[in-house]
Amino acid sequence: MSERYSCEGYASAFRQRGRLCTHCVMDEGDPDLRFDEQGRCSGCREALAIEPAWRHTDAERSPEFDATVEAIRRQNARGAYDTILGLSGGVDSSWALVCAAKAGLRVLVMHCDTGWDSRESVDNIFNLCQRLGFALQTIVVDWESMRAAQRAFFLAGVANCDIPQDHAIIATVNDVAVRNGIRTFLSGGNWVGESILPDAWGHDALDIVHLRDVWKKAGDRHLMRRFPTFGTVRRHVINPFLRRMNAWRILDHLRYDPGEARACLEREYGWSSYGLKHCESVFTRVFQCVYLPMRFGFDKRRAHLASLVVSGLRSRDSALAELAQPPMSQDDAERGAEYLCSKLGFSAEEWRRMVTSPPVPHTRYRVDTLERLAVSWAKKHLAHRMKLRKVK
Ligand SMILES: [Zn+2]
Repeated sequence: MSERYSCEGYASAFRQRGRLCTHCVMDEGDPDLRFDEQGRCSGCREALAIEPAWRHTDAERSPEFDATVEAIRRQNARGAYDTILGLSGGVDSSWALVCAAKAGLRVLVMHCDTGWDSRESVDNIFNLCQRLGFALQTIVVDWESMRAAQRAFFLAGVANCDIPQDHAIIATVNDVAVRNGIRTFLSGGNWVGESILPDAWGHDALDIVHLRDVWKKAGDRHLMRRFPTFGTVRRHVINPFLRRMNAWRILDHLRYDPGEARACLEREYGWSSYGLKHCESVFTRVFQCVYLPMRFGFDKRRAHLASLVVSGLRSRDSALAELAQPPMSQDDAERGAEYLCSKLGFSAEEWRRMVTSPPVPHTRYRVDTLERLAVSWAKKHLAHRMKLRKVK
C-alpha cells in the first residue's frame, strides 16, 4: 500500500461549475443559486439586500456606533470587563480587537486552542494582546475528544467537518463569559467579507443534536463527555433572555477593508499573514483548500471573493483570476493531507477513499428541529428589521 496521501487531479477540483453570475463570481457549485434576467445570482442579490445602509454615506462609522459602545459599557459597568472577544489570530477577529481598543472598551481576550493553531496565529494573538495591553485567557480543548469528533465527521462523509472546532470555540467563549459576568460578545463577523455563504455548503455548527448523532454513529462516543458543548436552550433561551447576553458585530459598524486592516496589523502590531481567510487553523487550511474542493467541489474562496466583489472591495476580474488558480500546489496539498491524516489517525488508503467517495448530505443524520425553527424565526425577524427584500 502506498503511503502517499494522493491528491490526484487536485487542480481540476477548482474548475468553474455551470453558470457564472454576471455580477459576482458565484457559480452553480451552489445548487440553491437562482439567476434573474440579467444573469445576477440570488446570492449577491440577497447580500445587497442586507447591506448596512450607512455604508453609502461618507461616515467612517455607523450613526449608532458611539451609542452602542456606551450601552455596552453601562451593561457591564459592574464587572472588570465590558466585553469578551474570541481571538483566533485571523484578520477579522484581530481587527475587531484593535477597533474595540480604539473605542475604549475593556476586552477580555479569549483564545480557544483546539490543537490546530498555526505558529503565525499564536504569535499574532500574543503580539496583539501585548501591544494593546489586554489580558489573554487561553482554554485548551481536550485533544482526544476533539480528535474523536473530527474523525467522526470525516467518516460520516458530510461537508462541514469544521463543526467540532466551531462548536467547541463558541461553547468555550460562552462559558468564560458567564464565569466572568460578561454580557456582551464582540464578534469579528462582517458583511464585507462574509455576506455570501451558500447554505448547501455546510450545516449549523451549533446544532447539538446533529453533532451528537454524527459522533454516535461514526465515532468513539465515550469521549463525548469531555467535549465542550452549547445546547439549544442555553443558546436561544437562557443566554439571550435570562442572562440578557448579546453579541455585537463591531466591523459592520465601521468602514472595514480586510486588505487595509491586514496591512495596518502587519505594520503596527507585529502581525503576520497566514495565507487565506480562516486558514489561521492548520485544520481549516487543509479542510477548506484540499478536502472540500476534492470531495465536494466547494471552493470557499469563491464565496469570500464574491462577498468582496459585492462590497466593492475587489474587482470581479481579479477575483476570477485568483479563482482560476488552486490555492496551493499539488505537492503542498499532499503534504497538508498527510499532516491532517497523521494527527487524526487516517491511513493513506483511508484518505484516498474519503476524497473519492460520494458526498453524504447532513440530513442523513438527525438535525435539531427546534434549532431549525429558532433559526428560521430569527431570520424572519432579522429580515423584517433589516427590511430585507424578498428574492425570487
Ligand atoms: Zn452573484
